[in-house]
Parts: sequence; structure tokens; C-alpha cells
Amino acid sequence: MIKESTLKPEDASVRDTVGAGDYYLKVIKAGQTLRILDLEGNQAADTLFYSADDPTERYSAMDTIREQGNAYLSAGTRLRSNYNRVMLDIVADTCGRHDTLGGACATESNTVRYDLDKRHMHACRDSWMLAIAEHEELGLSKRDITHNINFFMNVPITPDGGLTFEDGISAPGKYVELKAQMDTIVLISNCPQLNNPCNGYDPTPIEILVWD
Ligand SMILES: [Zn+2]
Repeated sequence: MIKESTLKPEDASVRDTVGAGDYYLKVIKAGQTLRILDLEGNQAADTLFYSADDPTERYSAMDTIREQGNAYLSAGTRLRSNYNRVMLDIVADTCGRHDTLGGACATESNTVRYDLDKRHMHACRDSWMLAIAEHEELGLSKRDITHNINFFMNVPITPDGGLTFEDGISAPGKYVELKAQMDTIVLISNCPQLNNPCNGYDPTPIEILVWD
């Protein structure tokens, strides 16, 4: 569902640009609103959320999909944790659909899906591992890297239940906005994938804005 935001970028308390292939790892407080802005279009933002108070509580695709009865994420979606509590609400969305079934890219999946010689290529899992290694204070480890949300990524379910990676439906300036219902660790890999159309074969920067 397309829903525009009423928030103005000039009122944001935080504005960070995340380069193609870089990560974003910060804590947002309950009540704050986070916007992920697709600056140049067709860029996937592979995202994980954790409770800042107890990182064993994390985003759960299963609980989110079951409770809303829909496999796609958009405005109105309540993002739930593995304890079935609401972590964040999607309060605005100008893209209209986000994936939480396709998973993030990894060197292992790149070799299975594409070719053995893709193994050295930069993948989202590498960015997440680097992020948690550079931020030990958050208490995250390899076991916390689990299933995720691919904001702006288009992974439609076919009539017979299959998943396909399709060309993106995002475009320059499209965004998704989330209001935190708990203090939340936000971990984003701005996807470096070059082997499928999720980034239009050309990874580009995203911008993160936070309003108090
Ligand atoms: Zn990726």
C-alpha cells in the first residue's frame, strides 16, 4: 500500500548516507521514526532488527507474516519479534512492497545460485559480520545473523508458490518509514549483489533519516 509521510527531511535529527555495499548499525529509541531512502532506485536494503534491551529478541518473518496474513511488507505492517511482540510499525511506504522471504545474499548462496567463481564476491552476510565485529558493545554474534527483510526488493510469489527474483519496483526517491515500538538495534547491509536484478546490477547509496 502506498502511503506518503508527513515528516520533513529538514526536521530529522539524524541523516546518514550509507554507501553501496556498506553497513548501517545503530540503535533507535522507542517512539523514533526511521526512514530508509532509496536515493538512486532499484537498491535492496537487507535489514535485521533486535531489541536493544535483549538482542535474543529479534525480527521474525514467521510471526510477522502469520499475524498479518500476508507475505509482503508495506504500510500497515507490524514487524514482530520471535516473542511475537511488535518491534516497529511501517507507517509510510512509497515503494509499495518489500520482501521478507528471499533471504540475504551470502558467498555460499552466490556459489550455489550463480557460479563457483562468485565465491569471493562481497555479500550481505559479510557486511553484517563486519558490522557486529566492529560493534562488540551491542552483544551480537554470528548466531544472531538470521532471516531478514529485504527493503525495496521484489520477490513475487508465483501462482504455484515459487519465489522469483524480479527487477525492482523501487525508483529514485522512494522510501519506507518505520516507527519503533521498542528500543531497537537496526542492522542494514546496503546490498552489494551484482548477480541478480535486486540492485539493477549497479549497487547505489541509501540514506537513513531518524525523527525524534
Ligand atoms: Zn545482498
